[in-house]
Amino acid sequence: MKDCIFCKIINKELSADIVFENDRIIVFKDINPKSPVHLLIVPKKHIPSVNDIKQDDLQIIGELFFIAKDIATKIGLKEKGYKLIVNVGEGGGQEVFHLHMHLQGKL
Ligand code: AMP
Ligand code: ZN
Repeated sequence: MKDCIFCKIINKELSADIVFENDRIIVFKDINPKSPVHLLIVPKKHIPSVNDIKQDDLQIIGELFFIAKDIATKIGLKEKGYKLIVNVGEGGGQEVFHLHMHLQGKL
């Protein structure tokens, strides 16, 4: 999607601190972290928000949680706990209209 900042990161037109990537999902550090650990888990498919999720997207939505759990485990947050946040729409605080999940915590 043209003019989407996260699509540009996915297409490597814009740099980001990428911590994980597979064919469907990319994870990178939030540029303006609101907690010591602040990652964004992003499907490579341009889905603007939760309001746009289709039946066909259910596998990838599940994978967002699966990867969040895997990364939290890998970096040592599993026992301590962490937050997974998805802002929906302007009223929900969404600023970037490419679906993403925030993983926030403190090591
Ligand atoms: P949201 O408010 O849920 O849409 O969250 C968007 C998040 O994307 C914010 O926490 C921003 O700090 C973050 N962000 C915006 N641009 C970039 C970027 N180029 N690289 C990394 N994170 C970004
Ligand atoms: Zn996009």
